[in-house]
Amino acid sequence: MPTHTVRKRFGQHFLHDKQIIQRIVDIVAPQVGQHIVEIGPGQGALTVPLLKKVGHLDAIEIDRDLILPLKTRCADKGSLRVHEADALEFDFASLQNAGQQLRVIGNLPYNISTPLIFHLLHSAPSILDMHFMLQKEVVERLAAQPSTAAYGRLSVMVQYHCQVIFLFHVSAQAFYPPPQVESSVVRLIPHQDISHFAKNYQHFALLVREAFSHRRKTLRNSVKSLVQDADWERLSIDSHLRPEELRVKDYVDISNGLQLL
Ligand code: SAM
Repeated sequence: MPTHTVRKRFGQHFLHDKQIIQRIVDIVAPQVGQHIVEIGPGQGALTVPLLKKVGHLDAIEIDRDLILPLKTRCADKGSLRVHEADALEFDFASLQNAGQQLRVIGNLPYNISTPLIFHLLHSAPSILDMHFMLQKEVVERLAAQPSTAAYGRLSVMVQYHCQVIFLFHVSAQAFYPPPQVESSVVRLIPHQDISHFAKNYQHFALLVREAFSHRRKTLRNSVKSLVQDADWERLSIDSHLRPEELRVKDYVDISNGLQLL
């Protein structure tokens, strides 16, 4: 493959450790007939082995200079459809056909990983599962439990939609160029049925955002603009807790409770 000038602004850290690549493919365990979607295929480190397993794959890549060499490399490996697009704006649900859910995979550009995960949550009903390489701290935040330092808006919003499973750590040496941060692989499985369903999702999302924008304050003070003092008397939640002490279910209960008041 011709030499590619690594673009920092696209968060390019290409996987070159064959064992790590194999470990990711093994843990994803793609099956023929499944609909795999890769975000940021880059030079094809994951694309090639995935394509060999399933025969067909959709990929979303923003860097047009990578696309032709990628297509050339994959030409005899299967049918690869590359969408030259910004994954942050891509309509993932539009790829779903005949009711078959998507399996989304990516060694994600770390600079946009959090907004990208929020964006993907809009398409959660179209997704069977997601496997991502992320900055270790982001995986810790995704999987965090209440009353821990890593627990915050990302934990609540992602856990509302998905089961989060930490898989393994990856050393910086597995990439070229090596990132400054440590990395981890995570699996996200969208709930097929959301057990604590927010009746007004926009309101629930706003409540969580407000709560964690003042995480040192008590809940009562942090969400003052959305929950009046009088409302708390009718909600069965202690308003003197800190935002990080509430479970996902508690945020849903507050939001749903306010819809009824
Ligand atoms: N999958 C390859 C690998 O593992 O070697 C490349 C991973 S590299 C960390 C991130 C990839 O995402 C790069 O190919 C980069 O060009 C692409 N990328 C960056 N921002 C993107 C965006 N907004 N939408 C789609 N692809 C993007």
